[in-house]
Amino acid sequence: MTETHTPWAEPYKIKMVEPLAMTTREHREKALKEAGYNTFLLKSEDVYIDLLTDSGTSAMSDRQWAGMMLGDEAYAGSRNFYHLEAAVQRYYGYKHMIPTHQGRGAENLISRILIKPGDIVPGNMYFTTTRLHQELSGGTFADIIVDVAHDPNNTFPFKGNVDLNKLEALIKLHGAEKIPYVSIATTVNMAGGQPISLENMKAVRELTKKHKIRIIHDMTRVAENAYMIKLLEKGQGHRSTAEIVLELCSLTDGATMSAKKDALVNIGGFMATNEWDVFEEARNQVVIYEGLHTYGGLAGRDMEAMAIGISESVDEDHIRARVGQVFYLGEKLMAAGIPIVKPIGTHGVFLDAKAFLPHIPQTSFPAQTLAAELYLDAGVRTMERGIVSAGRNKDTGENYLPELELVRLTIPRRVYTQAHMDVIAASVINVHKQREKITGLKMTYEPKYLRFFQALFEKI
Ligand SMILES: *Cc1c(COP(=O)(O)O)cnc(C)c1O
Repeated sequence: MTETHTPWAEPYKIKMVEPLAMTTREHREKALKEAGYNTFLLKSEDVYIDLLTDSGTSAMSDRQWAGMMLGDEAYAGSRNFYHLEAAVQRYYGYKHMIPTHQGRGAENLISRILIKPGDIVPGNMYFTTTRLHQELSGGTFADIIVDVAHDPNNTFPFKGNVDLNKLEALIKLHGAEKIPYVSIATTVNMAGGQPISLENMKAVRELTKKHKIRIIHDMTRVAENAYMIKLLEKGQGHRSTAEIVLELCSLTDGATMSAKKDALVNIGGFMATNEWDVFEEARNQVVIYEGLHTYGGLAGRDMEAMAIGISESVDEDHIRARVGQVFYLGEKLMAAGIPIVKPIGTHGVFLDAKAFLPHIPQTSFPAQTLAAELYLDAGVRTMERGIVSAGRNKDTGENYLPELELVRLTIPRRVYTQAHMDVIAASVINVHKQREKITGLKMTYEPKYLRFFQALFEKI
């Protein structure tokens, strides 16, 4: 492990390169118009630096690539499945694991198995696919995150925390039997990549235990969350990230994992549980939606890469540089007076589009607009996390009007260098200088589910 007084520099060297496309502004204007001002609909080859997501965009290590060659592509009982199962048990401590093609495959299983129509599912802020699967099973999501999570300027270090009063009030109102589980995310993506503290997690465990309610862990970025606990929580600095990861998991009853984030693979996920009955049901249902329970929609080689990626994700040098790179970009933007969500999150920097473009009303999609302008300026692709992502209330059909109207600059793991961070910062600063000239968008096509992926827009 590197001494902590040395800078966070990338703890790897590069042995293969992938050239990037440089484009002209004229080219980007045409490409963006054709994509309906939706960065999800741009072609990758028209993008210079791709900060759309940290999902499945990581660079695998030489060890992972070597593992790919050891893929055992048997239909049933592949040796790579057993390696993955052992990694999940060793690093996360869950008893039973079922692979899925990615996180939402696991969300589908857990929601179908545990949620009945009329149930309430409390969570520390919603996530798009997680909430949709809860709703498709007849549940209703209830937000129990601390109020400060909705304030981009509040610098509380654990904005992923649960407000225990909100949870207690929900239990009182609906009764524990209406709450199949509490959904706890480490870190909270939609709040700007904010961690939950170990202390808060323990308090949630205590309260749910009293009422015999499960905790299902959305553990997509649990290593990043654990690293923030090590860095900022009192009495945790001497522990390893790996130890804290294991303790966080031990405070929950099961999990859904998108291994495309923390676990450094391009595809993969799993559902985990400590309950035999839930495992048995999941093992049966996975056959319908993903594949046999020893491959869950994945190739053997994918499971091997995931098993190795899990071990690398808790490596101290890796996690320090991963979060260090994100902080480097965030601090640079803050120093230039750019409004970003504070504190800086662990997987990306979130621009506060309401403060960046105060003259554009939320119904004219300021974050969608800002993402489009950033692409035009230098070919940096980002993502909207505001009114478009929030969608509509399933009962009233009204648009949700989230307090946070954000543009996410998500940093893929081990992919870009510090020099790329400098280019990104320069482009954001340049767009900020011209912000008064920017006008909003109107939506011309709206898909029924998760509209942010495929909606089309026009300039007003
Ligand atoms: C990405 C993500 C998911 C869904 O996982 P996929 O692999 O994209 O299906 C769920 N929860 C959180 C917090 C995520 O970031």
